[in-house]
Amino acid sequence: MILLNPGPVTLSNRVRNALSGPDLCHREEEFSLLQQSIRDKLLGVYNLSNENWAPVLLTGSGTAAVEAMLISCIPEEGQTLVIENGVYGERMSEMLKSYAIHYDRHTNEWEANIDINSLRVMLSKKKYSHAVLVHHETTTGRLNELSEISELCARYGTKLLVDAVSSFGAEAIPFENETIAACAATANKCLHGVPGTSFVLLRRSLFKDTMAPRRSVYLDLFKYLKAQDGEGTPFTQSVQSFYALEEALKEFFDQGGRKSRYEIYKQRMLKISDVLNSLRIKPFLPSNVNSVVLRSFLLPSAKTYEEVHRSLKTQGFIIYAGQNQYRDKLFRISLMGDISNKDLSNLEFALGKTFS
Ligand SMILES: *Cc1c(COP(=O)(O)O)cnc(C)c1O
Repeated sequence: MILLNPGPVTLSNRVRNALSGPDLCHREEEFSLLQQSIRDKLLGVYNLSNENWAPVLLTGSGTAAVEAMLISCIPEEGQTLVIENGVYGERMSEMLKSYAIHYDRHTNEWEANIDINSLRVMLSKKKYSHAVLVHHETTTGRLNELSEISELCARYGTKLLVDAVSSFGAEAIPFENETIAACAATANKCLHGVPGTSFVLLRRSLFKDTMAPRRSVYLDLFKYLKAQDGEGTPFTQSVQSFYALEEALKEFFDQGGRKSRYEIYKQRMLKISDVLNSLRIKPFLPSNVNSVVLRSFLLPSAKTYEEVHRSLKTQGFIIYAGQNQYRDKLFRISLMGDISNKDLSNLEFALGKTFS
């Protein structure tokens, strides 16, 4: 079965085999070395220095990393603006609400780019200490304008917290913009590891200044940061998932790193978009605003999502449904993971059988 959903991804043999590494106690030196090796490699994905950036590894899915980032980075007296144009932006508002952290929302149509003019007005009117943004909004496949928005935030002294869960490892992230304070991501999307490990990259200089709020026992990033900088861990980590991530990162660099992964995804998506186009299946968003990671396509009127999903599943491929108002309108295809040219040719054939 080939997974075309936005994570978990189809594993390579290397990563699958790494899962059966030796039993290991998380208080032993071998675990510390493994943890430190993963942290170093995560910085290497975007050529960041350990001096400026701190990777913090968590056991939990991407949502755990996003939640840990928000509740650990926004101080008690913070003023937060959530920039939303999809399910994952809304989820961050939901998180803040559940911790009773005050926030305002900059809402945008899910069909639309983030409206920079009204965002500028909001940022300039009120002094927001923090803005939160989804980089790649997986709801639609839209790649939000992280560079432009981070420059805008910098102008108004607003720190930016980024959900980069479905872009980290493939899309460019402007870490050089100092307003970007933290970025959350996961092992099992563009990095091709298994679900279970997620992480937050923290800009060290900002953390020295911040009075750490203590809103959670388990999702307190400062606790993890202190322990991990001291080569320990506050709680049991998912050891096997760490083995897999270590191997996935080795494979990532063997395959040429971030830019190379971006190109591979781009070529795959071009090919599949062409195939679908020839079958009269149209993309939901124009390619210039779409990520290379995932694309949404409009369901043809003659077929339901269930029919399309079933046809492709019987041929060995798992696609992904639209969310909320897009449930009966869209289907989504992501081309992350260990997908060979042979798999792509098979997919081409399966799509032909499904839509012609
Ligand atoms: C996948 C994803 C998440 C996290 O989802 P989990 O199911 O918790 O791994 C968060 N944000 C975005 C943009 C995502 O694509």
